[in-house]
Parts: sequence; structure tokens; C-alpha cells
Amino acid sequence: MKVSLVVPCYNEEENIVPFARAAEEAMAGMKYEIIFINDGSKDDTIGELKKLVDKKSANITVVDFSRNFGKEAGMYAGLQKATGDYVSFVDADLQQPVSVAREMVEFLEENPDYDAVACYQEERIEGKGLSFLKKGFYRIIDKMCDIEFRQDASDFRTIRRTVAEAILSMPEYHRFSKGIFAWVGYNTYYRPYTVQERNAGVTSWSTGKLFKYAIDGMISFSTKPLKIATGLGLFTSFCAILYMIVVIFQKLVIGIDVPGYPTLVVLILLLGGVQLTVLGIIGEYLARVHTEVKNRPIFLERACYKCEREER
Ligand code: UDP
Ligand code: MG
Repeated sequence: MKVSLVVPCYNEEENIVPFARAAEEAMAGMKYEIIFINDGSKDDTIGELKKLVDKKSANITVVDFSRNFGKEAGMYAGLQKATGDYVSFVDADLQQPVSVAREMVEFLEENPDYDAVACYQEERIEGKGLSFLKKGFYRIIDKMCDIEFRQDASDFRTIRRTVAEAILSMPEYHRFSKGIFAWVGYNTYYRPYTVQERNAGVTSWSTGKLFKYAIDGMISFSTKPLKIATGLGLFTSFCAILYMIVVIFQKLVIGIDVPGYPTLVVLILLLGGVQLTVLGIIGEYLARVHTEVKNRPIFLERACYKCEREER
């Protein structure tokens, strides 16, 4: 098999048939397979996928998850099933043109020095607020992490088998694919693409979910927050010692100044706040160690359906 298209699907029942059609058109003349992952959809995505398998119009593998495990888990499952020399990650909602995936494969064929192609959005079609938040996040994560993140680069990528194997060797539970792609390295070519409107359905990324994803990414690929916590602790201790000297001096030289209630309250609140923040940061890391150490599988497969294209 030459190309494997990995397509995570969550509530995409109306997009399955249009996607398969778009893939057939875009990949004409190229040997390809599609690996759909039904990520615990609440609608009839699995029904549509099964119909597609029955039709046998393309090489299709459908992995049906036991529940919703998230897009990242879907991408990992797809990688495990992929047999192609090249693997492309494409969304099911037709926001990412399959024709661009083909162009990425052709680019890799012509340029053996590159191992992966990643797309970034030429123009963001999302709201200004969200775009601003995302930019801010990438600026922070850039500063925090030792690995280099390319701003704007999306999950819409095509990788060679070597890169696929490298990613498969990272079976961590909290998966932040942008970090994983950056961590494995390899020569990546970045190319722009024009993101399309969603074909049908709604996005499943709320601002809250994005925020959680951002924190996950930061904690998975950086220990700087812990260092900042240490710095904060040292700084407050230093200030406390300075103030202690002032208080002792006041007591010995001027005698006790009884009114000190506001200072006390402010100090207790400030120190309490700093301690809780630092504890929170440590807690975030500990929570991840906790889930990582349990070594639970990244996803559970309910069933797997497969078909090979019937030559007509
Ligand atoms: N997706 C998934 N599991 C989830 C959420 C999303 O497999 O829990 C899939 C979804 O079906 C789509 C892709 O991930 O194919 C991108 O999701 P979406 O279009 O909602 O995100 P956006 O394009 O708005 O960033
Ligand atoms: Mg989308």
C-alpha cells in the first residue's frame, strides 16, 4: 500500500460519504487505503462507515472505539493500522482537502531529503478572539519548551513510514500531537493550505476543551512551570527574610509597634496564595504521572471492519 489516509471521526455521519467520494477523486491512480476511526460517535457514523465497507469501493479499515477517546487517540489507532509507505492525517469534515494530502505525498516522493510535510493555515477562518488565544498559547509554549513548535502548523500532515514508526514508539497516554511531531524531529516541510468550511455538522472543540488541550501540551513537553514554581518560592522566601529583618529591627530598636493587623492579613493571604499555586502546579504534573503510570491503553477497540476494493 502506498498511502494511508487516517481519518478520526466523531459525530460525522453526514461527512463520511462525501469524504470517501472526495478521496476517490483526489487519489485517482494512486494506491491508497482509508482508515476511519469511529471515536465513540453519538450519531450513526458507524452505520455510514459499515455501509461504506459493504460497498467495497475502496480499501477501507474502520476501527470502532468502545467510547470517545479523543482525536489524538484516534490518530494513534490509525497509525497502528496503517500499512502505507506514507501516512496522511485528514479530518473527516472536508475542511482539509484530500487533494492537498496527495500533493504532500507527491512532494515527499520528489524530495527524498524531507520526511514529513505539515500544512499550516494560510488564513484562519475562525473568530478573532480564538485566533488571538491560539497565537498567545503558541508564543507561551514556544518559550516554555525546549523543542521547537512551529506556530500554526496543524495536524494535517503526511509522514513517511520512518516517522510513523517513531511516533508509534511513543505510547504516552496524554497525547499532544503537535508536541509529538516536534519531538520526533525529522525534516519537515511546511506548506500553506486554504482551510475549507466544514461540510456538515459542528466542531467538537469548545474553548474549554482547547484550554485543557493547551495545558496538557504545556505540561507534556515542558518542566518549566515547575522551575517557575521553585523560583516563585525562593523569591517569596527572600522577601519574607527581608521583612523578618525589618520586624526584628523594629522590635529591638523602636520597640513593638502594636498595629500590624493589615500587614499580617496581607502576608498570610499572599503566602497562602503562592503556596496553593505552587502546589497546584506540582499537582498537575503528579496527576499526569498518576495516569501515565497506570499504563492504561490509549484506546479500546470495540470492533474492526475491513474491506478491499473490488476491481470493477
Ligand atoms: N474528532 C475526533 N474525536 C473527538 C473530536 C474530534 O475524532 O473527540 C475528529 C473530528 O471528527 C474531525 C477532527 O477530529 O474529523 C477534527 O475535529 P473538528 O472538526 O471538530 O475540529 P476543528 O476542525 O474545528 O479544529
Ligand atoms: Mg474541523
